[in-house]
Amino acid sequence: MSNSGYHVLSELETIQYVKKIPGLFSENALLICKELGDGNLNLVFRITEKGTSGKSIIIKQALPYARVVGESWPLTLDRSRIESDALMIQNILCPGLVPKVYLYDKEMSLTIMEDLSTHINMRKGLITRNQYPHFAKHIGTFLARTLFLTSDLALEPQYKKQKVVKFINLELCKITEDLVFTDPYYDATTNQFNPLMKEVIKEIWDHAELKLEITKLKERFLTHAQALIHGDLHTGSIMVTEKDTKVIDPEFAFYGPMGFDIGNVVANLLLNFCAHEGCSLDQKERLQYQDYLLNIVEEIWTIFEKEFRALWKGNESSFYASVQGYDDDYILRLLQDTLGYAGCEMMRRVIGLAHVPDLESIDDPKLRAKGERLALAIGQQLVLRRETVWTICDLTALVRYIKNREVDED
Ligand code: ADP
Ligand code: MG
Repeated sequence: MSNSGYHVLSELETIQYVKKIPGLFSENALLICKELGDGNLNLVFRITEKGTSGKSIIIKQALPYARVVGESWPLTLDRSRIESDALMIQNILCPGLVPKVYLYDKEMSLTIMEDLSTHINMRKGLITRNQYPHFAKHIGTFLARTLFLTSDLALEPQYKKQKVVKFINLELCKITEDLVFTDPYYDATTNQFNPLMKEVIKEIWDHAELKLEITKLKERFLTHAQALIHGDLHTGSIMVTEKDTKVIDPEFAFYGPMGFDIGNVVANLLLNFCAHEGCSLDQKERLQYQDYLLNIVEEIWTIFEKEFRALWKGNESSFYASVQGYDDDYILRLLQDTLGYAGCEMMRRVIGLAHVPDLESIDDPKLRAKGERLALAIGQQLVLRRETVWTICDLTALVRYIKNREVDED
């Protein structure tokens, strides 16, 4: 892709840039621009109009390298095309569940989108034990609609294959292939873990059966072009208010296994569950919040399955709808994939390069290890036992069982 006019914007240049775009702000508007500074890979600017209008937008610009690492890790600018295309598709399939895209500028590798400054990063909300009564309904619907409606279940096969080509995402998939499925399972230099976890992690490196199952899941991630998945659907990619949910940051989107997205949502709720084990919290308060988290896991799947089946029924003319029992078989495979990928995500967030603030915010390494040990125990069992699970309640029962086995309640 040629980006001959591309250059990295400063805050000042961003203001000059938006002023030239018709329909965003009036010519004389006084604009303030701030780079939010918490993007892992990209620049995220907020531009606000001074005065009473309160109008604001977000500009997300891809850098030719990964921001967290720097120029030594070059990264394609094409990810901004993937992100804006995915956001536009998701907005059509699930209006209101992603930020609106106002403009995509290919040359500058940037997207102008709706500002969600009224929302907070869901991970932060879960760390402070907020509750989101509509979240399960929103994310269950998002998953069912984006996954079903971009798959062969809904699309004509040739059209779907053209979409697969458009969403080939070589470099970002490689990040996942390495950091989720490969590096955490041997003594890779990219790994970073709590030294107190060394022994448990060594057991994982020596666990032949686990490594075999991880390899099967990796192969499925590489080869199973099932639906247009978000590809990085952790709780930091979700912005919430009590009433609203918006999924952001689909730059890892590609055609992959549906269970990877569902599994990432489940894993990040379970990582928060584990982190609460390491917090110096009142026991009753901790147990209540942990119950709340397991309830949302059940609710998400239940809503997902209901919506997914409704879409299936509504598509009666399709070949798949006419094959008796295929829907049940498909959904069971999805549930089992969900467990497998949830397990992978839980383990890599303890062993690998990118950790989660839920656990990292626990200062005392001993307390943190308590949560991390539980995360590794649950992660392993989700991978190893995924094919023995038939319902979402089997999953939450398994989590409860492992927690009771691993943790001495004081
Ligand atoms: P990166 O892909 O570089 O990690 P993200 O898309 O995750 O970037 O955005 C980084 C942060 O910027 C988010 O955690 C959020 O705080 C903020 N942000 C991103 N998009 C929006 C938006 N549309 N509205 C408000 N804040 C946003
Ligand atoms: Mg990102």
